[in-house]
Amino acid sequence: MQYISTRSGNKGVSGAAAIISGLAPDGGLFMPESLPHWAPEEILALCHADYPGRAAWAIGGFLQDYSQGELADYCQKAYGPDRFTAPGTAPVVKISDSAYILELFHGPTCAFKDFALQLLPYLLTAALAKQGVAKTVIILVATSGDTGKAALEGFADVAGTKICVFYPEGGTSAMQRLQMTTQKGGNVRVAAVKGNFDDAQNGVKAIFTDQPYGQRLAERGYLLSSANSINWGRLAPQVAYYLSAYCDLLNQGRIRPGERINICVPTGNFGNILAAYFAKSCGLPVHRLICASNKNRVLTDFITTGVYDRNRDFYLTSSPSMDILISSNLERLLYLLAERDAGKIRGFMGQLRETGRYDLDSAMLAKLQAEFAAGSADEAETFATIRRLFQDSGYLCDTHTAVAVKVYQDYLAASGDTTPTVIAATASPFKFCGSVLPALGQQPEGDDFSQLNQLAALSGLLPPSRLLALKDQAERFTQAIGADAMAAEVDQLL
Ligand SMILES: *Cc1c(COP(=O)(O)O)cnc(C)c1O
Repeated sequence: MQYISTRSGNKGVSGAAAIISGLAPDGGLFMPESLPHWAPEEILALCHADYPGRAAWAIGGFLQDYSQGELADYCQKAYGPDRFTAPGTAPVVKISDSAYILELFHGPTCAFKDFALQLLPYLLTAALAKQGVAKTVIILVATSGDTGKAALEGFADVAGTKICVFYPEGGTSAMQRLQMTTQKGGNVRVAAVKGNFDDAQNGVKAIFTDQPYGQRLAERGYLLSSANSINWGRLAPQVAYYLSAYCDLLNQGRIRPGERINICVPTGNFGNILAAYFAKSCGLPVHRLICASNKNRVLTDFITTGVYDRNRDFYLTSSPSMDILISSNLERLLYLLAERDAGKIRGFMGQLRETGRYDLDSAMLAKLQAEFAAGSADEAETFATIRRLFQDSGYLCDTHTAVAVKVYQDYLAASGDTTPTVIAATASPFKFCGSVLPALGQQPEGDDFSQLNQLAALSGLLPPSRLLALKDQAERFTQAIGADAMAAEVDQLL
């Protein structure tokens, strides 16, 4: 299977090549030229497989230049019990008559991004060997909080790689910042950027498209790559957990073979929900995809009106990993909605760059709305949802997940659609004690670590040991830089 750019539709490259380069040379995103087809009996057969087995099968459909043996080995390592602490890796928990939580936060950094970033180092180092590339890869990451730590954790001390992470100063939770600034490893660097996530992301994109800079790096034996969700190696692993959730619902007797489910995802860069759309496109029985935004509701407005408009106020919220106004992965969905018309995508992206907005034609809007429902939750609604869900069902969720729960509840009330719905829980509530405690009516006490214990006492849950362990680790990276100094920061790593 070949990968082609959303902006040129050019002759394809292999999956391995797409993973190495991250972004296509013309600035577009790589897309598989066709999608795997999952037959109903194949989905049924996977009910008997464990999580690594399901993942290797699903990912193998997209990455055909990797053997099933290779992928099975990588998935066993990436998703083993030493890295994911919950039985089943991505457990599904019932919270109401029609709603199920897909817990994606039992990995090393307590957020869903571990699913992609525990596996990506294996995919990338194998890709280098397959392509005969003898260079050291420099992974550049712009993070709204969780990607950075997950990528650092995945790539720390991986031979042949270096990694540099940029996060918006003041734009993450205290625990997210500490997770990054304490990162160990001889090949890592972390810096706060004065600005918001979009500034950090644009800075990384500017480094990628600076050809003289890339040339200088190449001469010194380096190659730039990205661990952001624009990299196809991030998306393919995420398709797997929606398939796995479907198998778990079958195994639990909650649905019958072939019965459709909804999937509701708290969304920022549009990566996670796009993976759900790919799962549906491959043949997973999915009815609606429900896109949940926080107060930065650019996607809600887009899906309800067909107008994408980033010219609006940017809010820092209690769900910082969704504080985004340019959702990069949307480009991939547009490409499919436009029936792979790369010229159309160049047009939209040009308008977005020049005017900050674009408009779908009515045919594309109709297709978008046939697949996606959307809604948003403001801060008060997010907090009230955490409290009410905990009181009513005993389930404690984090701020991002709460946005999705609220949007799902609104969707259910408005549509009357009682299709069983899987809600992606993207982070552990213990990552966001400073918000979750007040949501439960408690004043946070003491430092970040006392708050972990405070939330544990209140909820009866154990705090993740990886968060507790940060207490004894020294902060290594405390500098804040301007967005114009990001390339210089990368040089420091070399
Ligand atoms: C990254 C992240 C999101 C948003 O995911 P996208 O793939 O960018 O849409 C939501 N919740 C949490 C906790 C995250 O870390």
